[in-house]
Amino acid sequence: MPFSVYNNPLMQNLLKELIQTAPTADNGEIRTAKVLLNYLKTAGVEIKIDHWDGKNANFIARIPGSEQKKALLLAGHLDVVGADQKAWTTPAFEGIEQDGKIYGRGSTDMLGGLTAVAAAIAEIKQENLPLKGDLIFVATAAEETDSAGVKRFLRTNGPSLRPLAGIIVPEPTGLEVMRAHRGILWLEITTLGKTAHGSMPHLGINAIEKMMAFLNLFKMYHIPYQPHPLLGDCCISINKITGGQATNIVPDRCAVQIDIRTLPGQAHNAIKKDIEQLLDQSKQQDKNFKAKITVMRSVPALETSQDNPFLTSVCKAVGVKKASAVGFTTDGPWFAKLDAPVLVFGPGDPRMCHKPDEYIEIEQLEKAKDAYKRIILEILG
Ligand SMILES: [Zn+2]
Repeated sequence: MPFSVYNNPLMQNLLKELIQTAPTADNGEIRTAKVLLNYLKTAGVEIKIDHWDGKNANFIARIPGSEQKKALLLAGHLDVVGADQKAWTTPAFEGIEQDGKIYGRGSTDMLGGLTAVAAAIAEIKQENLPLKGDLIFVATAAEETDSAGVKRFLRTNGPSLRPLAGIIVPEPTGLEVMRAHRGILWLEITTLGKTAHGSMPHLGINAIEKMMAFLNLFKMYHIPYQPHPLLGDCCISINKITGGQATNIVPDRCAVQIDIRTLPGQAHNAIKKDIEQLLDQSKQQDKNFKAKITVMRSVPALETSQDNPFLTSVCKAVGVKKASAVGFTTDGPWFAKLDAPVLVFGPGDPRMCHKPDEYIEIEQLEKAKDAYKRIILEILG
């Protein structure tokens, strides 16, 4: 029969309850972690909630195996992005079930994935299926902002996790196995000048004009890279500019924010150094040029090689012939620091992420739960 005899309605209820905790950056994830804990504790799973700052939380569950095999880590995030209720036709944080779908912020990104993993683990425990290695399920805080949760998790728990057979990130991929994604490097460049009255610009230093000079140089800069067979090109886009206070004041500050999407193998530090050289060049051409560069966010690209045995086992377990790549970035590269192959695989259409009226099909949840079970038994059985 296609649906689990154990907890099909329970799985849907779990997702609704998780959505109702509204784990946005403002609210944090403590309540969300507790909902997962209550669900899995009835299945007899060892669980720890690590919380800090009065609102952020990491959830860590471990099902010990017989240690004949390396451990499997399933690792996602608890937080969701906010929702502008005006743009929604359904309540964003209620978890409404309608026409075989569950609506709500996080249903796809990625409370749905966490729900399917939790349901798979509950069934494995209830069916008493023996595992030859540890099964670890982690859901961390603040992936949508600064990945504070995964960084803390790696600091506090990283060493105790090894050796790992592999890591699966249950972000939405429409149940495709993804072995690569691009990285993110967000930079802010600020030029600094001196204010003066608009009628006497020669007494000031115009930060917007200094920025124009820099941007002209920057437009001629090409980041060195080799196109990637799955991910294509590295891309770069100046997406925000701010500066000036009024029409009659010479601006003393102008800032641009640059979004760079990197490929596996590109060193973010080298790109930053290149841009620092352009700033030095601007300074050599103009003694009044003054600027600073800030890294706003840096997440490296992710890639697991096509012939990796963990990838082969996961594809076999879920009946997928070939792995592909996703367009968005995940916490996967942080987990890759654990020296294990990382794959992204989860329920839901990635185009739903961060959108109004976000939903997930219950059928996707069911299929994902069955797929996670098959993966767990393939790797640890
Ligand atoms: Zn996500």
